[in-house]
Amino acid sequence: MKIAQVALDVPLDATFDFSVPEGVEAAVGHLVVVPFGRARKVGVVVGGASRSDVPEGKLRALESVVADVPPLARAEIDLYRFCASYYLRPLGEVIGACLPPRLRQVKRRPIRRPEPEAPQDAGFSASFTLTPKQEIAAHLVAESADRFHPVLLQGITGSGKTEVFLHAIASTLARGRQALYLVPEIGLTPQLEAQVRERFPGAVIVAAHSHLSEGERASAWLDAQSGRARIVLGTRLAVLSPFRELGLIVVDEEQDASFKQQEGLRYSARDVAVRRAQMLGIPVVLGSATPSLESYANAKQDRYALATLPARAAAGAMLPSVHAVDTRVDRPEEGITATLTKALSARLQRGEQSLVFVNRRGFSPVLYCSDCAWTSTCDRCSAKLVLHLKAGRLRCHHCGHERRIPRQCPSCGGSDLLPVGHGTQRVEEGLRRRFPQARIVRVDRDSTARKGALKAMLEDVRDEKVDILVGTQMLTKGHDYPRLTLVGVLDSDSGLFSADFRASERLYAQLVQVAGRAGRAGLPGEVLIQTDFPAHPLYAAVATQDYLAFADAALEERRLAGFPPFAHLALLRAESKKPGEATAFLRVAVRAGQALSSRVELFDPVPAPLERKAGFERAQLLVRAKTRASLQPFVRAWKAALDEKAERSIRWSLDVDPQDV
Ligand code: ADP
Ligand code: ZN
Ligand code: ZN
Repeated sequence: MKIAQVALDVPLDATFDFSVPEGVEAAVGHLVVVPFGRARKVGVVVGGASRSDVPEGKLRALESVVADVPPLARAEIDLYRFCASYYLRPLGEVIGACLPPRLRQVKRRPIRRPEPEAPQDAGFSASFTLTPKQEIAAHLVAESADRFHPVLLQGITGSGKTEVFLHAIASTLARGRQALYLVPEIGLTPQLEAQVRERFPGAVIVAAHSHLSEGERASAWLDAQSGRARIVLGTRLAVLSPFRELGLIVVDEEQDASFKQQEGLRYSARDVAVRRAQMLGIPVVLGSATPSLESYANAKQDRYALATLPARAAAGAMLPSVHAVDTRVDRPEEGITATLTKALSARLQRGEQSLVFVNRRGFSPVLYCSDCAWTSTCDRCSAKLVLHLKAGRLRCHHCGHERRIPRQCPSCGGSDLLPVGHGTQRVEEGLRRRFPQARIVRVDRDSTARKGALKAMLEDVRDEKVDILVGTQMLTKGHDYPRLTLVGVLDSDSGLFSADFRASERLYAQLVQVAGRAGRAGLPGEVLIQTDFPAHPLYAAVATQDYLAFADAALEERRLAGFPPFAHLALLRAESKKPGEATAFLRVAVRAGQALSSRVELFDPVPAPLERKAGFERAQLLVRAKTRASLQPFVRAWKAALDEKAERSIRWSLDVDPQDV
């Protein structure tokens, strides 16, 4: 008898045996329809056998092989197996996450995609002569096309990293291979997609990101699999797309937090990209102005080749001058200091554009009672309710709870309720009062909720219909506006003193990025950082854009503290509605862990950064090991032990290589 082992997207860490009926050809990689309980499901054959442990009478037969989806390649199944094992999730769940929903439907219309033609000339045109440094970087990537060859490309903003990526992609396509180009958030970089299409007019290019319809997602996936698509440009999930002949992976802004998935399969697309390149024996390029310290450490230890672009590429483009504005002396009003006001007004007079950046991790406006110091907090979370003036509501940004703005203080009945902190809305209003003639646009999660809204706003900026842009970190990435010459930064100080050991690394990356928006073309740019700590070395490092110096110092701190990249971490998170239960579970987990291994260090359970969320009490526990090799077997055994111990009322998860701790 022939048995097919099938991975199914069900919450069980197992594959399922089915007998294969006579005449049915179900090899590894095939999508198959199988009976499951009283329903039918689409799964993937991941192995075969001649006998099964399932008793004869209970063994069911698979129903059919899905005919219109070609089988997954071995290499893909190996990749999914790696993800399942490394991030401790069932294989079926991993495959379920990778397969577009449309292809997992039992009943659907047959899919027909155009057959790939022989790869055409991609039509790549080099628009510039590469600078000598770009030339060196491009050579470094191209020099070993047929082996695992990781390259870290560190280049200041505007140094022409994109151009190096495009050249590397061009030579990959010329060799008849496909390229995967990963970016943090494609919705924010419509410019890049247009640019790539324009530069490769003869190539089929598919975009793979979360804004696609189910149909679009399925065809992008199938085009990558068949080899019809020569370039796949996508976000996190695209790293798991199938390919016929993948020859290069590019990861732009490799340090970006959005490459790490925060639920379910908590994978890092950057790390999986490197692993995938290693499994396939192909080059992978990680690019950034501010690489993660993990990647930089790999380059320092010669595990990755390092190329640097220390100057801006375009003739005449200079780095912006960066100044700290001392907010202890020059007190901000409605978030804005006199110095920044003056600089903004100079830009308005010269017909240049400005960007006012409000740090997301800064303070959002909350309601405050000046009589009794009451502030608006969420009943279900340990978080403040954020004031949304236009909507007339107080809203919790964690659980979505909202209510009307009260007229009187709910605590003392006083009527002196004031907004404190500055969100984007308050800053926008302050600016409108100061500059009634200016054309001001606010870009944040609220103002861009409508589909296409962000794109339209950014087009207005591009067409110079906007004088001042106010916004959050959405604005920091990838945009290139020639007439933007001033960047003002508000509320960034909180990043200097956070409990998270990565906070300063992140703040540095964000400030370098936002500063990089100023003075991209011929006009000189200026950056004003409003701060209570003008002498802080982090701000000085932003001013010099000396990433290597910043990173060397930051690495030394990490080494002394024993944090990544000098150690490997896993985070156990637990939450429960019963008071104290999550922490009690973590204490049990500590004891279970100590019994398993002495080669890992188990920290004490602590409250999560957001201690209560939507009525759940949340706690977490950090595990540290010197090496991956000692962490991996430990977390696997520990997870198995915890599966037995956890009560149903507890929700818990294990995060390998966590980003936020
Ligand atoms: P990065 O990705 O490093 O921030 P980009 O690749 O976006 O930088 O390049 C910044 C600007 O420099 C772009 O406007 C680009 O067209 C231009 N540029 C890139 N390479 C060259 C070059 N070799 N010569 C002239 N201009 C260039
Ligand atoms: Zn809440
Ligand atoms: Zn009060």
